[in-house]
Amino acid sequence: MLKETYNFIIKKIIAPPFCRACQIFLSHDDVLCAECHAGIAPLISTEVFITPKYSCKVFAVGKYEDPLKPLILAKSWSDRSASHQLGQLVWEKTYIRHQEFDFIVPVPLHWTRFSYRGFNQAQELAQVLAHKSGKPVLNALTRTRRTPFQSAVSAAQREANVNRVFALNELNKEQLKDKHILLVDDLMTTGATLKSAARELIRCKPASIKAVVVCRT
Ligand SMILES: [Zn+2]
Repeated sequence: MLKETYNFIIKKIIAPPFCRACQIFLSHDDVLCAECHAGIAPLISTEVFITPKYSCKVFAVGKYEDPLKPLILAKSWSDRSASHQLGQLVWEKTYIRHQEFDFIVPVPLHWTRFSYRGFNQAQELAQVLAHKSGKPVLNALTRTRRTPFQSAVSAAQREANVNRVFALNELNKEQLKDKHILLVDDLMTTGATLKSAARELIRCKPASIKAVVVCRT
C-alpha cells in the first residue's frame, strides 16, 4: 500500500495525467482526452453460443483499434493504472450498469503468466466493476493449462486452443446456482475464450451468464 502511494506521488510529480491514446497532457486525471473519448464508436452487444441451446450476451466498449487498442496493450508492460482506467470506461460506456448480475467472475490467467506480469487485466477490470456496482468479484474459475496466446494461433485453432482450459472451483458451485453471472475479460476476438469459460460456469446452473469486454475485434 505504501509503495503504491509512493509510486502515485512520484508519477504525479514527474508525469502529469496524459491521454493514453494521443499522449497529450490532461488537466485532470483521466484515461483519454475528450477528443479520443468521442472517437470511440459505440458497439451493440453480440451473442455468443455456448451450447446449441444456451447463449451469452457480450457487451463491449468499442472495437479493437485506436483509441482503445493502446490501453489493452498497456498490460504487456504491466501498466496497472491503465487497467483501472479501462474499468472506468467499461462502466461508463457499456450497458452493463443497467444489467442484472449477482457476481462478477474474471477470466483467469494461467499462474505462470500471472507471476510474469504481476497482475491479470481481467481481474483489475472486475475490481473496478465491483467497486462501481457494489457486487462481489468471485474467482470461480482457474486456468488449468498454459496455452499459446489466442493472437498467436489461427482463428480456426482458437477454439481448440482454449477448449477445457478452465476449471470451476467446486467451492463456488452452490454459490452460483440460480445466480446471474457477469464474466469479465479485456478482449474478445473469436469469442472462443469466453465460450470456454462460460461452458464451465454452466455447470453451476446459473440463472444467466452475461459477459463484458473492453474491445471486440
Ligand atoms: Zn487523446
